[in-house]
Amino acid sequence: MSALCLRFSFSMRYKIKIIIDKIINFFLPRTCFCCGADLQKNKGILCTDCFKKLEVVKGMICRRCGLPLKSGGRYCHNCRGSKISKYKCSFIRSALKFNEPSRALVHAFKYEKYLNIAPYFAEVMYKTFRNNPEFREAAFLVPVPIHRSRQRKRGFNQAEVLANHLGKICGIPVLNALTRVKNTESQTKLNRDERKQNILNAFVLVKGMENKIDKQALILIDDVCTTSATLEECARVLKEAGAREVLALTALRE
Ligand SMILES: [Zn+2]
Ligand SMILES: [Zn+2]
Repeated sequence: MSALCLRFSFSMRYKIKIIIDKIINFFLPRTCFCCGADLQKNKGILCTDCFKKLEVVKGMICRRCGLPLKSGGRYCHNCRGSKISKYKCSFIRSALKFNEPSRALVHAFKYEKYLNIAPYFAEVMYKTFRNNPEFREAAFLVPVPIHRSRQRKRGFNQAEVLANHLGKICGIPVLNALTRVKNTESQTKLNRDERKQNILNAFVLVKGMENKIDKQALILIDDVCTTSATLEECARVLKEAGAREVLALTALRE
């Protein structure tokens, strides 16, 4: 009888182990999200090689928009000379360069719902925050909103998740001051001018936020900055509503 019990409990334990393994496999992939290499016991999102390829934005960058500059200078082509005065977003910085592994991380975070990547992004974003005194005066972190229908489908706004994690580290409260009223198509295939047109009037101020943001410096938070058209449009709405200054910090810079 006891032998039977032992056999039974062993088989039960084995079945439970299989179920636990399945749950772990579901939440933590066994292959690298970037190159597909077997992760074996190293249960992460990226393999060691891909993780090493994550690159912090440093060196020569545009003083306003943070774009890496290959040939030096103070400003990029789009921010040079009198052009700088037309921008509402005065200062943009990003933590990581957009490359294959960082793109894979954002993809896993946003589309595969690996929310456990957010603390990593917040950590590298905090280093960028700390290295730029311009950010220290800010009263609020303002996440770039996504449209209600997209948020319902995804279950979360990636910018808000990043802002919440970063806010806890840097001590600046998060304020959902904006809402997205236009559900724009993906911007990936659009050029600079088309993006600007596509995003125009996509955001409005949330009711009652005027008093909170009045004369304040704000930091917009988003996952990726490409042409900065989205950040610029958010900044325009916030400044028209009375914000003194709008800066931006993103996880990736394309
Ligand atoms: Zn890899
Ligand atoms: Zn620039």
